[in-house]
Amino acid sequence: MAPKHPPRAGRGDRDLEVNPIFTREPLTVPRYRLPAGEMEPSTAYQLVHDELMLDGNARLNLATFVSTWAEPEARLLMAECADKNMIDKDEYPRTAELELRCVHMLARLWNAEDPRRAVGCSTTGSSEASMLGGLALKRRWRERRRTAGEPADRPNLVMGVNVQICWEKFANYFEVEPRYVPMEGDRHHLGAREAVELCDENTIGVVAVLGSTFDGSYEPVADIAAALDDLQARTGLDVPIHVDGASGAMIAPFLDPDLLWDFRLPRVASINTSGHKYGLVMPGVGWALWRDEDALPDDLVFHVNYLGGDMPTFALNFSRPGAQVVAQYYNFLRLGFDGYRRVQQGCRDVATRLAAEIGRLGPYELLTGGDELPVFVFRVRGDAAGFTVYDVSAGLRELGWLVPAYSFPENRTDLDVLRVVVRNGLGHDLADLFMDGLHRVTSRLRSHEHAPRDPREDGGFAHGAEPKKVRARQV
Ligand SMILES: *Cc1c(COP(=O)(O)O)cnc(C)c1O
Repeated sequence: MAPKHPPRAGRGDRDLEVNPIFTREPLTVPRYRLPAGEMEPSTAYQLVHDELMLDGNARLNLATFVSTWAEPEARLLMAECADKNMIDKDEYPRTAELELRCVHMLARLWNAEDPRRAVGCSTTGSSEASMLGGLALKRRWRERRRTAGEPADRPNLVMGVNVQICWEKFANYFEVEPRYVPMEGDRHHLGAREAVELCDENTIGVVAVLGSTFDGSYEPVADIAAALDDLQARTGLDVPIHVDGASGAMIAPFLDPDLLWDFRLPRVASINTSGHKYGLVMPGVGWALWRDEDALPDDLVFHVNYLGGDMPTFALNFSRPGAQVVAQYYNFLRLGFDGYRRVQQGCRDVATRLAAEIGRLGPYELLTGGDELPVFVFRVRGDAAGFTVYDVSAGLRELGWLVPAYSFPENRTDLDVLRVVVRNGLGHDLADLFMDGLHRVTSRLRSHEHAPRDPREDGGFAHGAEPKKVRARQV
C-alpha cells in the first residue's frame, strides 16, 4: 500500500541530494517529509525529472494496452485543457458538449438501434465504466425481483475467469457474487453453454469480454446472446449482457464490421471501452454506454446544473480532468472512421506479422495470432527448450523491452505465456528491432547453461491478468 516507504538498506530516510551545479540552496531535501521551505521551480523540476528517468521507456512497454503516443496537437490541446474540470458542466459547457458528441459517435459506431436514445458518459477508464455498467445491471435486477415480490439479496454476475481485475473489484466492492467460468482445455475464455449453466434467477447479467486481457481473443458475444435467448425461451429468465470492450470495442467496429457483438444484439444492454487504449488517447478516459434509457435506471443518475438547466451525470468521481475527453474528441475529428481503421489495421498487420515470425523461430508456440485484438501470446514449446518464458521476459527487459510473462488461471496453470500488445506507435521498424532482440535473447538462452528464473521475480506486471481471489466455478 502506498503510505509505506520501507527504508532501504544503506539509504534509509536519507535526504535527496540536489546536483550542486545549480549552486542553489537547499542542496538536500527530505525524501519522505514535506520540505520546510521553498526552492526554485527549475531545481524542483530537475529533481523530479531526474528521478523519473529510471521509469521504463513507455514506447518499449509491450505490456500495457494503454496509449503511449499522441500527436503533438493532441498534447497541445491536453495542455490547454489541463485546468478544466469535467464536472463543471456549467462553467465549461463546450467541454461538456464535446463529451456528448463523443457519446453519440460511439453509439453510432456500436450500432445502437436509435442512437439518439442511447445514453452514456465518459469515465476515468474502463474500470470505472465497468463499475457503472455492473451497477446498472444490479439495480435493474433488484427492481425486477422486488416487482415480482422475490428476494433480492443474493445477486451474482457470470463471467469467464479471464475477466480483467476490474470485474473482481466490482463484485467485491458492490457485494455481488462473482461466478467465474473456468478455462477448459483450449477454451481460454467464456463459452456460451458454460455461461448459461451458471445463470439463475439471481444473475444480474453476463459479462462478455471483447478482447481478453489474457490472450487478446474475442469472446463469442453473439453465441452467448443466442444461448441466453434460448434460456429465456425455456425458463423465462431474462439475463442481459454487458460487453467489456475495453480494447475490442475500438478495434472490431473498424476491422471486423460483420462481427456481431454490439447493440445489434438486443441482449447487449451496455458496453464499455477505454478511450486510452485503442481509442488512442493518453491515460485516463473511458466510456460507458447503455442501449437506451430503460437500460440505465434513473435512480442511479444524479443531476448537476448546466447552463441554468439540468444535466444528468452518472459517475463514481466528482472532479475529473477534462483534457482527455477533449483529446478523444480531437482524435475522432482528426482521424474519422477511415483514419481509425488504418491505425488499427496497421496494429493488426504488425501483430500478425510478429506472431508469425515468432512462431517460426522454433522454440515458441503461439496461443493466439494477433488477428482479433492486435495482441498475441506465445509459450515455450512443451519439449523443454531448457528455458522458460520468465527467462525470456527478463532477457528482453535487459534490452529495454517490457514483455510480461505470466501463468494462466486454474485448470490451465500449466500454461506459462508471454504477451505482446501492439499499439499505435509500434510500427514495422520498431517491430524489426524487437525481433532482433528476441533472436538474441533466444539464442543466448539456447546456448547457455543457466538457472531458471523465478516467475515471482521476473514475470513482471500482468496488467489485469493476475489470478483471481475466488476460485472459478466448475461447470
Ligand atoms: C484494461 C482493461 C480493463 C480496465 O480498463 P482501465 O481503462 O485500465 O480501467 C477492463 N477490462 C478489460 C478487458 C481491459 O483490457
